[in-house]
Amino acid sequence: MIGSFLNAVIYRVPRKINIAYPRSHCTSCKKLIYWYENIPILSYIFLRGKCSKCKTPYSVQYPIIEAFVGAVSVLLMPENFDSMGVMYFFLYFSIFCALLCHFIIDIKHQILPDSINIYLALVFLCVSILKYSPTYYISGAAIGFLFPYLVTLAFYYLKGQQGLGGGDIKLFAALGIILGPVGIINNIFLSCFFGAIFSLIMMSIGKMSRESKLAFGPFIIIVASFQIFLPALFRQFSSLWSI
Ligand SMILES: [Zn+2]
Repeated sequence: MIGSFLNAVIYRVPRKINIAYPRSHCTSCKKLIYWYENIPILSYIFLRGKCSKCKTPYSVQYPIIEAFVGAVSVLLMPENFDSMGVMYFFLYFSIFCALLCHFIIDIKHQILPDSINIYLALVFLCVSILKYSPTYYISGAAIGFLFPYLVTLAFYYLKGQQGLGGGDIKLFAALGIILGPVGIINNIFLSCFFGAIFSLIMMSIGKMSRESKLAFGPFIIIVASFQIFLPALFRQFSSLWSI
């Protein structure tokens, strides 16, 4: 059900439509979607992926996101259902949900909405207050903002081109809160590295030109997901260059 809600967020937030109102409707013929046509995954199957009135196909993204969010929520289930376990579950699950929306919205619209960046910053702050010292999250946020901001500014003055977008810089600042000063530097370098490799591959096979705009958020989000959800694996990987 949360996956189903995230589908609405992904569709509505970049189009600046309220996420609660109007109720779910077919985007093609405006027919209201009844509750029994709005059951995650199952409704997609029994409607055969089409609107019951105008037969316009619904994107296969809807059931895929519903199933993926369901699977990840199971993976994040705490071992002990004590108050700490349940609280961390809700915090990490909401981080996952917000990062997933960011990821898909950036690929589709090349924006990282402010509302999602603010939401992430608040949830990261809750986690960091529980786990880390103020020095850790304040310096992380400061580096996450200043470092990419100053590099982008310098790049703009030297070459007259905008490197990173404002949304990317705000996302780095938010991530700095949970990743801390070292973690955010790792993220900045790795996401730039993977973004550059990806662009080179796409240009070499002719799928992108030098002028094409590339959504950079997904690279930041993939690296951050490893750092946040699989920290042991990330530590092993980062011991390769060990800072
Ligand atoms: Zn329809």
